[in-house]
Amino acid sequence: MFDITKIVRPNILNLEAYSSARDEFDGSEGIFLDANENPFGDLNRYPDPLQKAVKQKLSEVKGIPAENIFLGNGSDEIIDLCFRVFCEPAKDKALTFVPTYGMYEVSAAINNVELIKVPLNSNFQIDTEEIANNLLDPQLKLIFICSPNNPTGNSIKSVEFIIQNFDGIVVVDEAYIDFAESESVSKKLAQYPNLIVLQTLSKAWGLAAARVGIAFAGNDIIKYLNKVKPPYNISTPNQSAALYALQEQSKFELQRNIILQEKGKLLAELEKLDYVIKVYPSDTNFFLVEVKNADAVYSQLISNKIIIRNRNKIVPNCIRITIGSPAENEALLAALKNITS
Ligand code: PMP
Repeated sequence: MFDITKIVRPNILNLEAYSSARDEFDGSEGIFLDANENPFGDLNRYPDPLQKAVKQKLSEVKGIPAENIFLGNGSDEIIDLCFRVFCEPAKDKALTFVPTYGMYEVSAAINNVELIKVPLNSNFQIDTEEIANNLLDPQLKLIFICSPNNPTGNSIKSVEFIIQNFDGIVVVDEAYIDFAESESVSKKLAQYPNLIVLQTLSKAWGLAAARVGIAFAGNDIIKYLNKVKPPYNISTPNQSAALYALQEQSKFELQRNIILQEKGKLLAELEKLDYVIKVYPSDTNFFLVEVKNADAVYSQLISNKIIIRNRNKIVPNCIRITIGSPAENEALLAALKNITS
């Protein structure tokens, strides 16, 4: 039976959160002499610490109550906060399935938490039998599942099995969900008190520069994330950019459709190249591509000023290519056709 008080670190359970001036009085009308701000200028006031307007809009767009939304300075900040809320350094453990997004490992190391890395199988899926014992380890507090997964591109099938069979927190990182056919597990939030779903405005919403990451979770989890976050973790310009983007849903859909259309074209062209061994199925805005010699393809593209990700070290002879604009993809294909590998 999941009990949040057994998972949260004792010092965080008992933590008295910092109460900022804008927490104590959050009206917008008045003479503000409470936060030692400069009274002049456009960006002179601290931002809304709880980003209420953005959450309200996000709630409408995503169909999730605003009280179940937490915003971070990118989802990278939320990944770090998960370690800080749930994992006692040098004692508790976290687990993820590799190859996957590198920040789980970096955040674990920063927080001095052991990260167990369980290999995905040959279809880049979770072998649920392999982790049966891990799920019972009382020191295991956090499991990260990236779905659709970066860098493999596929959605993970056994997400709900893990949530149902683990008494700690399962973080499902859905950074690429807006490109996927599969449904977000955030629809099942009410069913799973141990679930945190991460999404972001950095990918399909086109706001990587604004650093707005999203967590959907039950009220208890949201409460602890709010306790631990820096008071003003998202700047006013970034909150405005998020609100503006969320209000322009037709622009989002248009851009996403262009990216998905380009993805189809790129796939067909990539498969024609004789040095391409496999283009992995993708639920994202990128392809993992196995080639004869990843280092050679990578360096020849670099010499054409085309930058992709060489994933050779984590998936042998694989490169990861993001779907660009039509002109960028054309330039990529022209360069790829001239490669000797
Ligand atoms: N999760 C995954 C799977 C990602 O690929 C990335 C960015 N590459 C992030 C999280 C971080 O996103 P953000 O910009 O929201 O910090």
